[in-house]
Amino acid sequence: MNTGNLVSLLAIVVLGSTPVLAASAGPRFYGDPPDDTHPWAVHDGNRPQPKTVVPGTFSTADQAGKPPSDAIVLFDGTDLARWQTDKGKPAPWRIVDGVMQVEPGSGGIQTRDSFGDCQLHIEWAAPAKVEGDSQGRGNSGVFLLGQVEIQILDSYQNVTYADGHAGAYYGVNPPMALPVRPPGEFQVYDIVFRRPVYKDGKALDPGYVTVFVNGVLVQDHTPLEGPGGHMGRSRVGPLPDKGPISLQDHGNPMRFRNIWCRALPPRVCEGGTDGALPPEIARAKRHEIAAAIRQDAATLRNPDQPLPELLRLFESLVYESDPPTLEKAEAMATAYVQTVKSLPADRLATKRDEVRNLRDVFKYLARFKRIPDAFAPKTAVEQLIQDQGWDRKRN
Ligand code: MG
Repeated sequence: MNTGNLVSLLAIVVLGSTPVLAASAGPRFYGDPPDDTHPWAVHDGNRPQPKTVVPGTFSTADQAGKPPSDAIVLFDGTDLARWQTDKGKPAPWRIVDGVMQVEPGSGGIQTRDSFGDCQLHIEWAAPAKVEGDSQGRGNSGVFLLGQVEIQILDSYQNVTYADGHAGAYYGVNPPMALPVRPPGEFQVYDIVFRRPVYKDGKALDPGYVTVFVNGVLVQDHTPLEGPGGHMGRSRVGPLPDKGPISLQDHGNPMRFRNIWCRALPPRVCEGGTDGALPPEIARAKRHEIAAAIRQDAATLRNPDQPLPELLRLFESLVYESDPPTLEKAEAMATAYVQTVKSLPADRLATKRDEVRNLRDVFKYLARFKRIPDAFAPKTAVEQLIQDQGWDRKRN
């Protein structure tokens, strides 16, 4: 194992409950470093790992699939415990053979819990026996925040107004296609919902809805224009941060199964730190990362093996310039090279790889102006490698 890997494996720091640094090994001094809008380097080994999710299974015509491991299950075929009327009464819809069915005339139902930005999965089927036409045929709807309706309609060989078809952002935007199955068969909706973000009355992000119907994209990051609705022009504006997910009773005995959602992480405009950031946010994040690395460096302190600590100190400079840290790391590097040079020949020979690694670290730091052009330990390391012939190919 080279020293870089050793250092990486030791790099586990948790500040409070928030993992600031990766708990796993990964490259250091490697990709382009952080810049004014990116707090992480390219391929940054310090960057936290994405959470692990065990994927679910897909549904078949007869069998509902399984949700992914981090989903909030809203309906799994057993009960309506997570649902209620808009008056807070128990949901009056029926469960038949593990499927939820609208009790026409009983009113819509909504989740007891509130949700904001989410990935929502829902499957529905219109009655196999076709009755009515246009909006009167197999109509329901799923409402994000209890307001924004993604239309549910038996659109199979059914003509209606375009912005009222299955997969429409109702009254606002038609679906880009109608990939619907015949009535009686289950249709699968996968929806990505991002609510509008306003600050001081100004829109930082209009919010968006993306919808797949039976795996086919029908709403492509469509900007929100208010709740949508029947006949009235919807207006752009703020919406609540959270609200129930609602299902519509439009008088048809529609069926539902396999309903789940996953909360989504914050966007940059609301405090998320993945993506290009405003410079002041990027600077603050870089400071946070550098501080965590310096804290980690202190845990590596070992007079007999100074290299892990000094590498970690240099690493912190990739994120944030800090003269006292540079001064300390320089002194440690100078002492390290002196110590190595004074070793007897047989032990000196064993230092070849770690010294060459240190030379590469200095090259990286110099290339990105993290150390001065004239940096004494860099010169000393290069001289040592040259004197020992450590760059020559070995026989
Ligand atoms: Mg509807």
